[in-house]
Amino acid sequence: MSETPLVDLRSDTVTRPGAGMYQAMCDAPVGDDVYGEDETVIRLEATAANLLGKQAGLFLSSATQANLVAMLAHNARGEEILLGERYHIFSSEAGGVSALGGIVMHPLATDATGGLGVAQVMAAIKEDNPHLPISRTLALENTVAGQVQDPQHHRHLAEAVRAEGLRVHLDGARLMNAAVALQQPPADIVAPFDSVMLCLSKGLGAPVGAMLVGDRDFVSRSRRLRKQLGGGMRQAGVIAACGLYALENNVERLAQDHERARLLAEGIADIADLPVRQHTNMVFIEPQADDLEPLRLHLEARQVLFGHQKPPIRMVTHLDIDDAGIERAIEAIRSYYGKA
Ligand SMILES: *Cc1c(COP(=O)(O)O)cnc(C)c1O
Repeated sequence: MSETPLVDLRSDTVTRPGAGMYQAMCDAPVGDDVYGEDETVIRLEATAANLLGKQAGLFLSSATQANLVAMLAHNARGEEILLGERYHIFSSEAGGVSALGGIVMHPLATDATGGLGVAQVMAAIKEDNPHLPISRTLALENTVAGQVQDPQHHRHLAEAVRAEGLRVHLDGARLMNAAVALQQPPADIVAPFDSVMLCLSKGLGAPVGAMLVGDRDFVSRSRRLRKQLGGGMRQAGVIAACGLYALENNVERLAQDHERARLLAEGIADIADLPVRQHTNMVFIEPQADDLEPLRLHLEARQVLFGHQKPPIRMVTHLDIDDAGIERAIEAIRSYYGKA
């Protein structure tokens, strides 16, 4: 082990369970969840449903699997999802809904805030014409690359498309970051949605897992689809316990991640060659092309990691990043630019 701990800002997925979470795993009553006999999973599913104001919940192995199951539950083959081109279901899930579900995706240009316009979405809904897929679902996201979406606007979008018979899904991988930033109950934010996905293994700090919530019928269809995809898990209570622990202990503290991201952005704001912006737990920097690799190596030598994206590059705060880590990241970036 090196003396200096790693400041890993690549993603909020890199968190590791702490002592309390490990203890929760040890203490969890378990059973065979495919038989519906795992008390801890049952408790997690009820907790998530309650937190998000829906009838029922389902525990899945990952956020990608949860989005896939939701899209399979809402859409038949040849039916269509409208969604933002930057949204994860379109951009980062290996085309799973199309590859496995025969579902068409119509990606729409997302605006600078990560949102879609009502008129833009309505114009994309297909008329009843045998040449065209049937528009079945609108899939939104919150947060979008850290940007909190306006719940009122989501409500307007949902009402508009529902009048045309569409269903509305929220990819809320980082919904709790939005809820904490808005200081609004998550159930209020997701009230307009038929289904909601919430990731447990990002900022909330569980090692694995995601929740899907909706009405009882949706969740029961989703349970069968999860089984079809090989996602039925047996004594899953050992990992569900982490999800419960995360929902009970790691939600309010997301405000600290947002504050640390703000401090990080503020600490490098005066570097002329490095445009910077910050949203919730994400800081985006845009190094000049020539600086990109040298800056990465300079930081790596100081045990500070950021992601391998093209600019803008993302630095993400999470529960394994403390104040000292933020100071070290600031120092490392400042020293590269000769601003000790
Ligand atoms: C990370 C993420 C997912 C998928 O999470 P995995 O853990 O990679 O399956 C889905 N949607 C959004 C918005 C995400 O950020």
